[in-house]
Amino acid sequence: MNLSTFTTPSELSHYLQSHRSQAMGFVPTMGALHLGHQSLIDRARRENAMVVVSIFVNPLQFAPHEDLDRYPRQLEIDRVICETAGVDALFLPTAESMGIKDGLTQIIPPTTMMAGLCGRTRRGHFQGVATIVTKLLNIVRPDRAYFGQKDAQQLAIIRRIVTDLNFPVEVIGCPTLRAESGLALSSRNQYLTPTGRSQAAVIYRSLQQAHKLAAQGERSQQSILAAVKNELSTVPEFDLEYLELVDPQTLESIEKLDRPALLAIAGRIENTRLIDNVLIGC
Ligand code: AMP
Repeated sequence: MNLSTFTTPSELSHYLQSHRSQAMGFVPTMGALHLGHQSLIDRARRENAMVVVSIFVNPLQFAPHEDLDRYPRQLEIDRVICETAGVDALFLPTAESMGIKDGLTQIIPPTTMMAGLCGRTRRGHFQGVATIVTKLLNIVRPDRAYFGQKDAQQLAIIRRIVTDLNFPVEVIGCPTLRAESGLALSSRNQYLTPTGRSQAAVIYRSLQQAHKLAAQGERSQQSILAAVKNELSTVPEFDLEYLELVDPQTLESIEKLDRPALLAIAGRIENTRLIDNVLIGC
């Protein structure tokens, strides 16, 4: 089937109406598609008869000082990637067609899930994500929606919203795709120079240290975090924002590694904010 493109919710809904008997997979993105996005699309392609991808640089999830205006946009390339990957419908709404306006009804995830990690510095971010993902799920009404484990806090919050609000969709978490150096693929990697990219590999290297320690039986949060910081110190250009060990579902802090835990990190290289995480102790 050829790729069909839609810019308003009503056009997309109208098109999808005649395909409702088929299993539908949905991959929401902000575009500047890379192999990480493509892995989600490929999985959706394997598991569903219909695949819908959205590209929407959601203004609600950017604070005024963040990179909304310079966020990478490459629509023509993204269109080719979707076509080649066998996507059926590409949804490219505008802020206007998504009804973004002052006074918009907002979805507020549990405050305990937004208090730490990225939520600590990105105030309002997850409310913006939750509101737009809710709107997208209501517009597309997929059977399955695919999200990356790379954005682990987002994934946990979306799972919680879907459960709490009884959305009739299966949320599928997908593994993080990485460059050979271990650096998690991200649209924001485009901001980095080659030197910055190679320095940024320290992020995953440090997480791997923790993974190894946990596999050897280390259970103390303090020792695990210390090992990560020790590895990070080999690249002084990395400016650490947070390093936290949390429960992967509730996102609450874990003191002792007596169950699987999410070790999550954020920081800046060349003033580009990067995040990554691994599951340890499982
Ligand atoms: P974004 O366009 O950054 O909002 O990402 C859209 C979706 O792709 C989200 O569910 C992300 O978690 C996922 N994603 C981003 N980077 C990767 C990656 N390196 N591997 C797997 N999934 C990813």
